[in-house]
Amino acid sequence: MDVVPENKPSDFIRDIVTQHVVEKRYPHVITRFPPEPNGYLHIGHAKSICLNFGIAHENGGRCNLRMDDTNPTKEDVEYVDSITQDVKWLIGGWADHCLGLKTGQVPYFASDYFDQIFDLAVVLIKKGKAYVCDLSPEDTDKFRGAPDKPGVESPFRYRSIEESLDLFMRMKAGEFPNGTRTLRARIDMAAPNVWLRDPILYRIRHAEHHQAGKKWCIYPMYDFAHGISDYIEGITHSICTLEFEVHRPLYDWILQQLELPNYLPHQYEFARLNVTYTVMSKRKLLELVQEKCVSGWDDPRMPTISGMRRRGYPAAAIREFCRRIGVAKTENMIDLSLLEFCVRESLNKTAPRLMAVLRPLKVVIENYPEGHVDELDAVNNPEDPSAGTRKVPFSKVVYIEQDDFRENPPKEFFRLAPGREVRLRYGYLITCQSVVKDPVTGDVVELRCTYDPATRGGNTPDGRKVKSTIHWVSADRAVDIEARLYDRLFTIEDLGKMEEGKDYKDYLNPKSLTVLGSAKAEPALSGLKQGDICQFERLGYFSVDPDSSVLKTVFNRTVTLKDEWVKIEKRGKQP
Ligand code: ATP
Ligand code: MG
Repeated sequence: MDVVPENKPSDFIRDIVTQHVVEKRYPHVITRFPPEPNGYLHIGHAKSICLNFGIAHENGGRCNLRMDDTNPTKEDVEYVDSITQDVKWLIGGWADHCLGLKTGQVPYFASDYFDQIFDLAVVLIKKGKAYVCDLSPEDTDKFRGAPDKPGVESPFRYRSIEESLDLFMRMKAGEFPNGTRTLRARIDMAAPNVWLRDPILYRIRHAEHHQAGKKWCIYPMYDFAHGISDYIEGITHSICTLEFEVHRPLYDWILQQLELPNYLPHQYEFARLNVTYTVMSKRKLLELVQEKCVSGWDDPRMPTISGMRRRGYPAAAIREFCRRIGVAKTENMIDLSLLEFCVRESLNKTAPRLMAVLRPLKVVIENYPEGHVDELDAVNNPEDPSAGTRKVPFSKVVYIEQDDFRENPPKEFFRLAPGREVRLRYGYLITCQSVVKDPVTGDVVELRCTYDPATRGGNTPDGRKVKSTIHWVSADRAVDIEARLYDRLFTIEDLGKMEEGKDYKDYLNPKSLTVLGSAKAEPALSGLKQGDICQFERLGYFSVDPDSSVLKTVFNRTVTLKDEWVKIEKRGKQP
């Protein structure tokens, strides 16, 4: 599957890492990918995965997969499992040798370190660098002030170390209800950076944890747990998105106060990925799933990695997309068609070609012998001679695409019409002699054609020209299939630019899914299994969906053959 060349990328973070390698600053380069298991991974995460695993891969290092699981009420093992599967799939065949897992081949968890994190909280209290605060969550917020307004010190800020220690132990023992107390760092309530205004390190949450079970009723905050987890794992470069830039002074403060024996990790930030016609916040994606706007997290319209896999996007194509968009510090919006371009490029080289008809129109070839089947030679992949050829059956009745016929053809329409001749791909030239109409609706339901036996294989011995070659399927041997065609999930490019008072769900595209239940395909298709991808000639790339049964194979259109991206690139709109 790995057909896309993975050229070595370069960006400001890789430059820093290279410099550190030259300086021999660390024994090894160790990065991590730290998702919170509160949803499925999306294409934005793919950017972070490709960056973190890419750096590990290029420097002979490692990238740990770590679940950032400090918020038990929103997390679930379903997400842990899907994230693990998606990461392995995305880096498979490329950087899997860099994947850092715990013994037992399971991910690391921030919750593995809850004991150590707790002990380090005690160290901070003993050093007078943290205190237990009894302010309510509302008052804590109010006292924090705003960037232009200094904060107000908590009345508990100067409580004795002994009292804080005692209260913290009792918090852990479960003596206090949720929201009654927190552990806070004692830093600076007047700091211009509000994250340094005595940030909360621990909060009370009487909730069972998907990994730690019932052991804890206090949980560390992200900022406290993250740096310590990085340190414990020996992470050298802790890479995250720009919204964490303002947290970096806190990240550094925590690690410095603890006077730890080994080298400290450092945090670097890059711009998150935004893609047109979709949303990427896990909260919104969860809402789409819960409100059944889509069939699930892996609905092929979703921007999730599992949705893209189901739709037929190769992992190598997603990685190539991430390579092309690069890594920088300015946020921008990437056109979805670039991703589709990468998918098309990748599949063009690998996908076997078949013929299928999505909206069948019956064609009777009047001068073709009844009951005869001709086995025609067809090329499996013109891009790959080693893919060989196959036989395609031809018989008296075939199906063509409704779109390939017009009773009254407009000027630019060169396909089949009454009195006109076209080539059936790999087959014969046929001429439409007459049409049969539905007596009630007046729709054309059948074409009566003749074929020229001298044109077998699509040749014209007399050199006469036909303007069009169309695909077809033999009715006798056709296999029934269902085809699911997809369009953009949303109707506007940038969901950050909604009209006032509107919700992002108001922009869901009602035509994002078209199900064609009576499509037909050539019999060679029976060799395909779930997840396989082929090209239906002239229609696009299709993948076999897990909804397939022995009765009917269900296909997802992965991507059409038409390339929007090339047009966009010509206009010079994108990288
Ligand atoms: P959300 O805000 O939708 O819940 P998140 O950022 O909280 O997403 P995490 O699970 O915390 O999701 O993300 C794991 C890692 O992936 C983080 O390092 C985060 O910076 C990175 N990441 C998340 N979204 C994007 C994106 N759109 N582009 C690049 N990296 C991203
Ligand atoms: Mg997050």
